[in-house]
This record gives sequence, structure tokens and C-alpha cells, in this order.
Amino acid sequence: MFENLTNKLETIFSNLKKAPSLNVTQVDDGLREIRKALLEADVALPVAKKLIEEIRPKVVGKEIIRSTTPGQMIVKLVHDELVKFLGDGKSDLNLKAVPPVSLMLVGLQGSGKTTTAAKISKFLEKNNKSKILMVSLDVYRPAAQEQLKVLGETNGIQTLPVVEGQHPVDIAKRAINAAKLNNSDVIIFDTAGRTQIDVSMMKEIKDIKSIINPTETILVADSLTGQVAVEIAKKFNEAVAISGIILTRVDGDGRGGAAISMKHATGVPIKFIGVGEKVDNLEVFHPDRIANRILGMGDIVSLVEKASETLDQENLKETEDRLRKGSFSLEDYLSQLRQMKKMGGMEGVMSLMPGVAKIKKQMDSSGIDENIIKTNEAIILSMTKEERQNPKTINGSRKKRIAVGSGSDVATINKLIKQFRMMSDMMKKVSRGDPKGGLPPEIFNQLK
Ligand code: GDP
Repeated sequence: MFENLTNKLETIFSNLKKAPSLNVTQVDDGLREIRKALLEADVALPVAKKLIEEIRPKVVGKEIIRSTTPGQMIVKLVHDELVKFLGDGKSDLNLKAVPPVSLMLVGLQGSGKTTTAAKISKFLEKNNKSKILMVSLDVYRPAAQEQLKVLGETNGIQTLPVVEGQHPVDIAKRAINAAKLNNSDVIIFDTAGRTQIDVSMMKEIKDIKSIINPTETILVADSLTGQVAVEIAKKFNEAVAISGIILTRVDGDGRGGAAISMKHATGVPIKFIGVGEKVDNLEVFHPDRIANRILGMGDIVSLVEKASETLDQENLKETEDRLRKGSFSLEDYLSQLRQMKKMGGMEGVMSLMPGVAKIKKQMDSSGIDENIIKTNEAIILSMTKEERQNPKTINGSRKKRIAVGSGSDVATINKLIKQFRMMSDMMKKVSRGDPKGGLPPEIFNQLK
């Protein structure tokens, strides 16, 4: 997510940080570089300009130039400004109405509306314990209603039964009645999308809106389309007054232009981001955390939240106990690899770590990728219980046997054993009271 922009900003910042002092020309050059990086990330020109305009007076003519850590202070200013542009804190869904509360999703065809309807349903079911009814009002695209029905069935979310030939406004009325009878708390309306905005589409949205009186009219927009997404948001907002935005495909967006420009250009907050095709690939949009990710500072809060949601706490506790006793084995290592897989693999964890761009570059060059988790799993599973408990017993002939069993080679097994040793050494240090345990200082400081 946003790796291109993060890479560029990290380079600019590390150059600024190297300088023991900065004069006005150096600051201006730095700011120009930041502006260029923002524009290359497809941030809208007025937004990039404004952001720099806001930062400059805070840098020039103040203590920063004379400060002992001028680069550091500029990073902090860019961060604070970025947070302001991304929005003032997270923006929750408005559910304040007599149930059934109506939420309406609008947007172009293919922007991810239908998938997002299911994602929000799951989110509200889990976090608000809401009973949801999903309704497709798309009577134009063949099989659109069927697509939502199937999504509902696969994910255990109720959908309104499809009646062929009904007009969207009539479907909406039927949905409200059904939700009342059903005691549903929330109805999520998935409206029809077109390939481009047209008058009849807007009229239909207005008609539906006046019938269902939604607490939220949410635009679903594709992050990958950058400034186009921002223009679409402006048009929808002028025509039907949207109350929030959900950006989809942020998982594949290396630039981040849409996320940064959206709030400033439309005045409407981003509520969620879609980060994958699965129903649980939805994240609440936290401006400060996103600013951290963009600036390569990682997102430790989300990492910890994700960990506590997905990890098996009991298993962690057992591992910790064994560690304390100094008996961390390859079996524990295997269970850690599996936990990591659950959290979205290396990629998922790394994207939330501070200094991510640098680490990722190292990962790429050393060939570490998702397959390593799989290979390591296969290798450990090909070992005997004794070998897993005591890797020192793994001699040359055992290694050959394990290589055959796991479809790998001796060199890979050596690498795994070395990694395991490094990890258990680091953990021993931590458990002996060296809190850093060999972590690079920039990462350790973020974890404190
Ligand atoms: P609709 O026409 O607006 O209803 O769009 P769909 O919900 O059918 O989505 C179009 C495609 O985008 C589908 O293949 C989805 O799986 C995919 N998609 C939706 N949201 C995301 C996301 O956040 N990330 C990724 N990678 N794909 C997504």
C-alpha cells in the first residue's frame, strides 16, 4: 500500500535528516522534492500545493532551521499536515436512526460496491452485533442481484429475495417492509453502477434516496484510478450529497493520491478502505495511522490490533513460557510461522512495520517472499519430533533425508536452521532482560 510514495519520501527525509543544519534554500529544495513526490503519487495539484504552503511557514523563519534535528522536525510537520488532509480522526458510520437504518452505496460499475456491501455487513455484524439485510437495486446489469445473493449465501448474510422485473424504487420499498418484519437493524442498499456518470443514474439515486432516507450515502471508489476517483467523488457529491467514501483496491495502490486528495477536494471523509477481495479485507480509515504508513513510520497500532484479533493467545502464552525456560524449539518456530500466515503473511505484517520500505527492499533483494513460509513449514514437517525439539541433532545425512521429504535442498535447510538460531538467540536475550534483543534501534524505538 502506497509503497512508491513511501519510498520516495523516505529517501527525501533521510537526505534531510543527514544534514546537521538546514538553510532556507535547502528547506525549499526539500519541500519542492516532497511536492514532486506527491504529484507523482497522483495527488491532486491544488492539494499538493496547499499541503506545502501549510508546511513552509512553519519551517522557515522558525526554530527548525536552527534546531539540532531539522530533518526530524520537518518529518513531524509533514506528518501532522498529512493527518489534517486525510481527515480529523476516524469517521464512524452513522447508524443513529430508528431501525431499520438504511445505508446506501453508490458508485461506478466495477468500483467494488457489491463486494463492499458484504464487507460492511460483516463489519457491522462483528463490531455492532447488527442484524443486516443486503439489497441489490441493480436491475440493469445481468446477474447483479444474483451476485449479491450468492455473496450473502457464502457469508451468512441475509439478502432480499429477488423478484424479476421489479423497479428499483419498488424493490427499496419491499426491502424496508421485509427488514421491519425481520427485525433487521441495518439495510445495506447496493445501487446500480454505470461505466460513467449520467443524468438518469443520478436521478435514480435521488429517487431511491428520498424513499429510503439513508443515514449514509457512501461513494465506493477505486483507489487505483487516483485523481479520476477524486473527480467522480466531486460529481457524486454535487449531485446527490454523499456522506462518506470507501476507497477500494487500496491493497494494490502504490501511489496513494486518491486517499490523500479525497477529503480536501470533496469535504467528505473516507470511512473505510478495501484492502483485498475477501469479505474481511476492510479496514477502518484512521488518518493518523495512514499518515504513518505513508511516511514509512509503520502502523504499530494496527499491527497489534490485528495480532490480538487473529493470534491464538493461549499458544502465544505457551511459547512465551517455554522461551522463559530456554526451550524454544522448531515446533514453536513452526507455530509462529503459521500464526504469521494467518495475519496475511510477511507482506501483511511487513506493511505495518516501521521502516517498511527499507525492509521490503531488503526482502526483495534477498529473495524472501511468501513462499519461504510455505517451504519452511514443509521442512519442519519433514523432521522427526526429536529433531524439531533439538535441531542440534540434525546432521548431514538427516538433512539429506529432510530435503527429499520436503522437496527442498540442504542449503535451504541450513538457512532455516541459521534463522531459527538467530531468532532463539534474540529471544533468549529478551527473556534475559536485554529488552532490545538485537532489534534495529529504529524498530525497537517504535515498539516501546
Ligand atoms: P461493483 O460492480 O461496483 O459491484 O464491483 P464488484 O464488487 O463486483 O467488484 C469488482 C471487482 O473488484 C471484483 O473482482 C472484486 O473482487 C474486486 N474488489 C473489490 N474490492 C476490492 C479491494 O478492496 N481489493 C481488491 N484487490 N479487489 C477488490
